[in-house]
Amino acid sequence: MTLSLPIFLDNHSTTPVDPRVLEAMLPYFTERFGNAASRSHSFGWLAEKAVERGREQIAALIGADPREIVFTSGATESNNLAIKGVAWMHHPRGNHLITAATEHHAVLDPLKRLQRDRFEVTVLPVDRYGRVDPAGVQDAITDRTILISVMVANNEVGTLQPIARIAGLARERGILFHCDAAQAVGRIPVDVHGLGVDLASLSAHKLYGPKGVGALFVRRGQPLVRLAPLLDGGGHERGLRSGTLPVPLIVGFGEACRICMGEMPREAARIEALRERLREGLFSGLPEVTLNGHPTQRLPGNLNVSFAGVESDALVTRVGDVAVSSGSACTSASVEPSHVLRAMGVPEELAHASIRFGLGRFTTDEEIDHAVRTFVEQVTQLRRIRAAPDRTPSSARQVEAG
Ligand SMILES: *Cc1c(COP(=O)(O)O)cnc(C)c1O
Repeated sequence: MTLSLPIFLDNHSTTPVDPRVLEAMLPYFTERFGNAASRSHSFGWLAEKAVERGREQIAALIGADPREIVFTSGATESNNLAIKGVAWMHHPRGNHLITAATEHHAVLDPLKRLQRDRFEVTVLPVDRYGRVDPAGVQDAITDRTILISVMVANNEVGTLQPIARIAGLARERGILFHCDAAQAVGRIPVDVHGLGVDLASLSAHKLYGPKGVGALFVRRGQPLVRLAPLLDGGGHERGLRSGTLPVPLIVGFGEACRICMGEMPREAARIEALRERLREGLFSGLPEVTLNGHPTQRLPGNLNVSFAGVESDALVTRVGDVAVSSGSACTSASVEPSHVLRAMGVPEELAHASIRFGLGRFTTDEEIDHAVRTFVEQVTQLRRIRAAPDRTPSSARQVEAG
């Protein structure tokens, strides 16, 4: 197979739409354009049928009942609906929420806003692999605790959390449990009822579906999960999320889930083998490379490593045709190391030297071999420049500073 550049190794940020997903969506932009809420004609009926089929496909992937799926615009909105929805509904009976330091900003930031509105938030520490200790959750619970939110799989280092144990603790104390499952669903088996979670956030564009659609799993049955909506309007989605449903996006989301369900076992094994090939190539080709995250309890497609002595921002610029993400997030004024690596106790130097590789359905052996060659070459060069700055051509210095 010939190699086509650039290579996409950033499948945690988003994934391409699978061609089969696009195919399924197309008719719903044109002849089947109806509003799923229109009850009086066949345009509406066709749209509603498509939405309900999508709902079934999504529910099936996570072992839920279709009536437990609420459509949203993505995992950001699902997280906001779960967290603020529980907080607003249960205040003032309780005002305490618990989360972990390595959560996505779409969990941490809604909690920060609640904190400004006089809610109390406990942010649990993690171990050096990024894992939450269930005993720490136990200790943090108070009589005022209304929600615990811990993600299934981390988006930077791929670490998997002991969800079933934490959810069990929450259930025993009558506290609702939410998980951000955006990185996990479609990549590893997630059975919401088996895990015992009350609320789970999903995103279509992390599993080869379209951007702009997601879902919140809301458990049915006793004890009741009660939520306040973020949006008021037409009362769609049983009043939890008003707004006309994006039928083509939902059809694509459903088809993407159907494909994941059929292909996950084989796909995960193939991707994990490629990830190991990448890891072995980098670790045998370069000295002073360290793994970030858990050695085994991690997503199959995730590799996060630090190349000591190298600024990851300079490195991502130099490897131009290999799209990866650096462990630093440029804010307006300064370069902040990732809050995830910081919480894991990764030294600042190594946090600034970290690269996240995200492998996916369309990653090939040739791409991995090319990525290994490119990174070995560029890391070696950057280290040489650093060791002998006086002999650096000015152009290379500029790149390193950029
Ligand atoms: C991508 C991602 C989100 C945000 O999802 P959107 O659908 O883009 O809003 C939230 N949480 C995690 C863990 C993610 O990886």
